[in-house]
Amino acid sequence: MSLLQVNKLSKTYPNLGGPPVQAVSEVSLHVDEGEVLGVVGESGCGKSTLGRSLLRLIEPSSGEVIFAGKSLTRLSQTEMKAVRRDMQVIFQDPFGSLNPRHTVGYIIGEPLIVHRRGNKAERRRRVEELLGIVGLPQDAADRYPHEFSGGQRQRIAIARALALDPKLLIADEAVSALDVSIQSQIINLIADLQKRLSLAIIFISHDLSVIRHVSDRIAVMYLGRIVEVGPAEEIMQAP
Ligand code: ADP
Ligand code: ADP
Repeated sequence: MSLLQVNKLSKTYPNLGGPPVQAVSEVSLHVDEGEVLGVVGESGCGKSTLGRSLLRLIEPSSGEVIFAGKSLTRLSQTEMKAVRRDMQVIFQDPFGSLNPRHTVGYIIGEPLIVHRRGNKAERRRRVEELLGIVGLPQDAADRYPHEFSGGQRQRIAIARALALDPKLLIADEAVSALDVSIQSQIINLIADLQKRLSLAIIFISHDLSVIRHVSDRIAVMYLGRIVEVGPAEEIMQAP
């Protein structure tokens, strides 16, 4: 059984003064435990809408998402909060989600507080462990997000996303705002996490060169549809 199974998912946006926009059309896909699925396609083809619909950050218009054997379609938003412990997302610009008034240690440990995991000492240890996992120095915990570069901020966002030991990480253009050399560091980190934590990852990017080396399989999106999906080597060989 797949960790994630998506059946004919569609999303249509209302469009003031024009015809509705069908951003995602009958997308079906699956992600197995510990697998990296790359999703690639040009800007505007519906990748982000698809990623957010899986978590119901956007309500899909139709179709079904089954995560860890459970259909998410009829869950309340409160029930979805519990699902989002196991299915985390990181975005292109982590700055928006990193509260500038909180220390990095607090930001990374906050999900543990929200979900009442451990006492203060246990949370501190987990934060230290997470800093190590994402390759940030221990003294980062007492500093603030603005003291860090874009690549390091993405590491902070990843550490926070990992705090509750999710089964699936959705990375939505997570490296697109970074310099190419920093991009490859974050890509390597994500590949490393998949191996060490046997984490399943949906790696969304408009740039095939970003996902080609880390993806087990690649889904190609065009105008809201998946037009091709297969093992990364196969997709790379396609004319
Ligand atoms: P991608 O992530 O591949 O760039 P998006 O999912 O952001 O694609 O967008 C897919 C399509 O849906 C685009 O045509 C975009 O303009 C449209 N779209 C995205 N968000 C909205 C929205 N909130 N309201 C209306 N149209 C939207
Ligand atoms: P408060 O004193 O309001 O509880 P803290 O700043 O002590 O807030 O942080 C709360 C949680 O944030 C801690 O339990 C821990 O999870 C994490 N945290 C904050 N700062 C650090 C730090 N320097 N090292 C490790 N974890 C930290």
